[in-house]
Amino acid sequence: MSNTAPRPAEPVPGRLDRLVARVRAYRLAQRRRNAGRNKTGGRRATWLLGALVLLLVLLFVAGLNYLTPKTGGRQVTLDQFVALTGDRRVTTATFLDQDNRLAGRYVAPAPGAKANATTAALPADGAFWLNYPKSDVAFGILADRLTTDGARIRIDPQSHKVLVRSVTIYLLPLLVLAGVFGLLFTGSRNGGSGIGEVTNFGSMGKKKATRGGSGSVSFADVGSATEAITELSEVVDYLKNPSRYEQVGAVPPKGVLLFGPPGCGKTLLAKAVAGEAGVPFFSVAGAEFVESLVGVGAARVRDLFRRAREVAPAIVFIDELDAAGRRRGGGGSEGGSDEREQTLNQMLVEMDGFEVSAGIVVMGATNRPDILDPALLRPGRFDRHITIELPDAPGREEILRLHARTRPISPDVDFAYLASRTAGFSGADLASVVNEGTLLALRLANDTVGTPELEEAIQRVLHGPQGRGVVLTAGERERIAVHEAGHAVAAAAVGQAESVHRISVLTRGRGGGQTRIRGGDDGLVRTADELYGSLVMTLAGRAAELLVLGTPSTGAEDDLESATRLAGDIIGRYGMSARLGPRRLLANDVNTYLGGSSGLADLAPRAMDAYDEELVVLLTEAEADATRLLARNRQIFDRLASGLAEAETIEGPALEVYLYAVEHTPPSAPGSRPVRPPVRTGR
Ligand code: ATP
Repeated sequence: MSNTAPRPAEPVPGRLDRLVARVRAYRLAQRRRNAGRNKTGGRRATWLLGALVLLLVLLFVAGLNYLTPKTGGRQVTLDQFVALTGDRRVTTATFLDQDNRLAGRYVAPAPGAKANATTAALPADGAFWLNYPKSDVAFGILADRLTTDGARIRIDPQSHKVLVRSVTIYLLPLLVLAGVFGLLFTGSRNGGSGIGEVTNFGSMGKKKATRGGSGSVSFADVGSATEAITELSEVVDYLKNPSRYEQVGAVPPKGVLLFGPPGCGKTLLAKAVAGEAGVPFFSVAGAEFVESLVGVGAARVRDLFRRAREVAPAIVFIDELDAAGRRRGGGGSEGGSDEREQTLNQMLVEMDGFEVSAGIVVMGATNRPDILDPALLRPGRFDRHITIELPDAPGREEILRLHARTRPISPDVDFAYLASRTAGFSGADLASVVNEGTLLALRLANDTVGTPELEEAIQRVLHGPQGRGVVLTAGERERIAVHEAGHAVAAAAVGQAESVHRISVLTRGRGGGQTRIRGGDDGLVRTADELYGSLVMTLAGRAAELLVLGTPSTGAEDDLESATRLAGDIIGRYGMSARLGPRRLLANDVNTYLGGSSGLADLAPRAMDAYDEELVVLLTEAEADATRLLARNRQIFDRLASGLAEAETIEGPALEVYLYAVEHTPPSAPGSRPVRPPVRTGR
């Protein structure tokens, strides 16, 4: 029998996708609506509860006031009461049972009666009252005296006060306490709105997301960051439409790490991404996660991500990421490292937990990428790294112009000239130059901000109260240019020119300028000559300073550190010293991974001495070779040094033009030259 019933039409794949996308969009919108509703509802509950607690406190005060005994007349002492009753002057008396008070009236002494000295201080007649202890004995004595006196006695049980007392003393305080706890609870549930925030350790407090959109920061507000903006455009695209990425199975950017010197616009860029995508922007400083209380940081991370998820797509920006994301274990584990580890773990868990459609991008900023935990930098976490450099001259000009947009700057101001005067300034410094200049013009009652004000502002920023010390004097600039040109020429001479793609005099950390060397040795087998070439190249900066200027400087500190480490590896790890033989002297580098430095194995003192001597020989020879290479290419080297001093940064093809004529004469490693007979170093 054939089945003639019509079969339901198969959904067309395109239609199905569209349907799935619509369902997802609907769910997302619903989640957001609920989040918004929960938030307003929660806030309303907090207010209502607050008002209720206030009312209860007022009732409590009113109750206490009501319970306070209020009796007209004069308080009398027990002696005076005894005297009054002894003289039969008390006419009426009422025992106020709840107040433990006896209140009554007395009359003037009978005419001709002898005045009692005890009652002399009292008015002739009137009302009186007396407190008595709550005991049958006291009550009995007083009643006895009054009966003897012949006064009319009454007992007022004050039963209305019994109820008020029970409510005021027992019930109201309990209700107030419950109300306060309720406030704390709703406060913490609302992410810190309300009194709850006071003890709300585990939440990020009142921190609110700023929403991007019209009027917020955009890429147009960030100057000198073309590369970074290009990289970040993809993040913007993802945030605008996260479900599109899920549909095509693309892995979206999850974590973006911005690194660069302070004030170069990392926060500004992150805000601009939020602004461009029109999504909420949650900003926290890494230090806010690190509390002395263990567990609080982790709870804060959870809270932050929960809130971001509620309004996704969103950006979570963690400034000073190194404060929370420092390398775990290893060297320098000071107090609170447990806490930091927990916080870091929580951060990793949260980042791993996003679905593609979650639409959350975490952006971190740091000046110290080197101390970040490697786990943070793995794929799926902060796997996009964007370096933001100090701006070069055209970049500085662009930033100055950007900040001048909203200021009444005189049309004859030469921004290119000002940019040339501000080598080493960060974006933040340039922003404050324009601001200081405007303030100066204001003080001088000028209509526009002119070059003199801006020049004065540069001086202020340079020598301001903070004492910057990163801006170069002409002498420093020349020295750094010589140093960096030395690295570059040596790199070309040892055959590693392709590894240098950018040299700059702009200060970076303690070491002055920088020669950016492309990585490339990971996983490669490197020969002794190549390693020695790298050593020569590393020491060439210092050699150049000695060759041209006659003295070394502190600028070579970092170079010396890397050169010593490399030389140590050559002889102690790779066994490339003919004198020490093919042995591994350095301990396993387990600690290196954890942030410590690999130490020497337990060497006998003689072997240690030999290692030390060999290290000095290798380093000295490498420096001498560097000097020889530079001297041989002196013309090119001088030209590059002066070109660099002028241009501040030379990169790419421009650098190749300088270096193409460098004589390629790589020195061979001392280990592969004829050497002295090996010395026995015995352990
Ligand atoms: P830190 O490392 O100290 O947190 P940062 O790199 O995050 O600094 P921002 O806070 O983004 O620096 O910059 C501070 C201010 O400097 C910005 O608000 C902006 O006014 C100005 N600024 C910095 N860089 C730029 C830039 N590239 N273009 C325009 N303005 C900039």
